Amino acid sequence: MARTALVSGGTRGIGAAIAVALREAGYTVGATYVGSDDAANEFRNRVGIPVFKWSVTDYEACGEGVAQVEAELGPIDVLVNNAGITRDAMFHKMTPAQWREVIDTNLTGVFNMTHCVWNGMRERRFGRVINISSINGQKGQAGQANYSAAKAGDLGLTKALAQEGARVGITVNAICPGYIGTDMVRAIDEKVLNERILPLIPVGRLGEPEEIARCVVFLASDDAGFITGATISANGGQYFA
Ligand code: NDP
Repeated sequence: MARTALVSGGTRGIGAAIAVALREAGYTVGATYVGSDDAANEFRNRVGIPVFKWSVTDYEACGEGVAQVEAELGPIDVLVNNAGITRDAMFHKMTPAQWREVIDTNLTGVFNMTHCVWNGMRERRFGRVINISSINGQKGQAGQANYSAAKAGDLGLTKALAQEGARVGITVNAICPGYIGTDMVRAIDEKVLNERILPLIPVGRLGEPEEIARCVVFLASDDAGFITGATISANGGQYFA
């Protein structure tokens, strides 16, 4: 029987590419979202992947959402923690709300989602948790103290859970994308992108969402069963962790 995968923030950007790639690899896939119903339904109608709405910041909602996904699609074998936001500001201008929103979504959201699938994976003695962190969690980024802290936290969480999951058949890994051509990066001022960011990327281009998706498909596969606690950097040579 096909394994079931759930991708948070899976209806656009990197998450949508991951959901489609996992489906093409034979998984039964669900994708979560939090914002526009119209956009999510357009994705569902276009690609035929069921969509589920809740915020990863809400632990209760994660529990109810996971139960609904499992009732409709089957026990979740693969969880991809992809949902993420930015609220950029230099630290001296960063508000407590900007700090909290990013930590709540990008770090606590990963705890919430993973905690809600973890016991099921333990009982079934199989699981794959794949966390989408960031190059800026590895190296830090001015203007992103909140985001860098959350994404670095995801790497610590990945390594701790890898140790806890190892004896019960669960692998936990992280992917650190560099700059990928999605809404998140399109929100960056074009001049800044062209003059200050692109020159830092040795391959001379942004990454494609599908290039991250293919890493996820590998980490989810049986071929990756001996890989846990690892971080895959996919950043066009911009930074070697
Ligand atoms: P997008 O902004 O294009 O998409 C973000 C996704 O996260 C959306 O699907 C959004 O849902 C979802 N989301 C946001 N907040 C919540 C929430 N509270 N609950 C549930 N879902 C939520 O981002 P990208 O595709 O660019 O990024 C995906 C991941 O990759 C993020 O974790 C990001 O930090 C990381 N990343 C991205 C890089 C890049 O260059 N693009 C580089 C490094 C890391 P909705 O569609 O409903 O708004």
